[in-house]
Amino acid sequence: NGSRKVYEKFEEVLKDRNLKVALQRIEEGSENENPVKKTGCCGLCSLGPLVKILPYGYTYGHVKPEDVEEIIEQSLVNGKPVERLLLTDPISNKKVERLEDATFFKNQTFYIMDAIGTSECESIEDYMGRGGYKSLIKVLSEMDPKSVVETVKSSGLRGRGGGGFTTGLKWEAAFNSKGERKFVVCNGDEGDPGAFMNRTLLERDPHSVLEGMIIAAYAIGADKGYAYIRAEYPIAVEMFNKAIDDAKKFGFLGENILGTGFNLDLEVKEGAGAFVCGEETALLASIEGKRGVPRPRPPFPAQSGLWGYPTLLNNVETYANVPKIIRDGVENYRKRGVKNSPGTKMFSVTGPLKLTGIIEIEFGTTLRQVIEDICGGTSNGLKLKAIQIGGPSGACLSEEFFDLPLDYDTLKSVDAMVGSGGIVAITDDRCMVEVARFFLDFTKRESCGKCVPCREGTMQAYTILEKFTQGKATNEDLENLEYLSNIIKTASLCGLGKTAPNPILSTLKLFRDEYIEHIEGKC
Ligand code: SF4
Repeated sequence: NGSRKVYEKFEEVLKDRNLKVALQRIEEGSENENPVKKTGCCGLCSLGPLVKILPYGYTYGHVKPEDVEEIIEQSLVNGKPVERLLLTDPISNKKVERLEDATFFKNQTFYIMDAIGTSECESIEDYMGRGGYKSLIKVLSEMDPKSVVETVKSSGLRGRGGGGFTTGLKWEAAFNSKGERKFVVCNGDEGDPGAFMNRTLLERDPHSVLEGMIIAAYAIGADKGYAYIRAEYPIAVEMFNKAIDDAKKFGFLGENILGTGFNLDLEVKEGAGAFVCGEETALLASIEGKRGVPRPRPPFPAQSGLWGYPTLLNNVETYANVPKIIRDGVENYRKRGVKNSPGTKMFSVTGPLKLTGIIEIEFGTTLRQVIEDICGGTSNGLKLKAIQIGGPSGACLSEEFFDLPLDYDTLKSVDAMVGSGGIVAITDDRCMVEVARFFLDFTKRESCGKCVPCREGTMQAYTILEKFTQGKATNEDLENLEYLSNIIKTASLCGLGKTAPNPILSTLKLFRDEYIEHIEGKC
């Protein structure tokens, strides 16, 4: 959105004017040589670049480099807000002075995305000032590995990467596995169109993910870790590499961590951008330097992962929850969410809505609350027709499902999934057959080609969908499409193929009349 240009302009003007600004930083009122701080994304992408002026808290949206002089004069020198740049809350339709007062934020629950707009994403000192690395110190000084595993297990934390598997059980399996050495791996290969939660977290709070990985390595007995981050996320790669270097300097990583004799070497492995490398066995093959294709499980990575050694693999967001759980306790963590899906989840919300971006909500929040109370409803004046949830392989849900609580088990019960956390709003000007074709086009191209049902099936299903959108489809095509989709779902080797037909199957179930209209030439 041009944030870096705004940042540079602030630096330039403040330097020219030789202005010194007292900032509220780790120690309130302390001064810093560079008064302009990069905070990372606060989630409100549709109003960015955002600028927040401390200590007043005035927050400005859509800031351009040419606005900078006025902001400095009016807000820094005179202590007054620049009215024209204040955010307009699309729900209350009022100007808000402070970021935290916008309805977009008030209706969210922040757990891992706390310290909005005040944390400095590049700084380890800032992270430590917010309680960072206290959990690692606690774990290394007070807890044995088994009790760390037990703590994560009792929290009920579930993997945020898609499947929602219980994280503590994964840790326990890796803990119990025997091997000459073990590995921890972070899956940062977020490749879903419209999803950027992991990217945001890695760019904004890399140390929270890193601390979670170090704690995991201690718990299972690993001495080497990899953060697998896709190369299309250059800022995330840069941030995480810096976080690793800084953690080493402070003694949180490397040899003899904090004098306890625990060693962990950790490095970033950049992924080349294949969607299938988000699948855990394909990701591990990629780290080993092989072609990134999935393999059958078992054995699971916790038993036989990288180079045949036990390997613990979790998603970026899953790791970021761990330090908080250790520091604030299991009970505190379980206060949010619902019984079988405790805690919060980050979602990226896109589509024709008044506000879009990254949100964090408690499990159990409904889709309607997300769309209306947080994102302000549709921006084009049209009615919301469907919501696609769970990434390109997620189901398209119709209005009757908008009030269901968002959690792993409820969504599964209606053949949908939390997935990686993409939410796409679809208004009633869109054709659902076209929507299904759009998503299948992506999964078809990303199929690795290893197994026939996915490789050939997605291609054939796509060909049939094209017949619909070109007005050439028949009733027989409708039957074939449904039959084929079920075969792909049942017989494919990995999650990519197994879930690829979801947009087709869900639209066939909930928007079948639109397929019929195409056959009858009504659209
Ligand atoms: Fe590859 Fe698709 Fe088979 Fe997965 S299901 S192994 S992506 S061909």
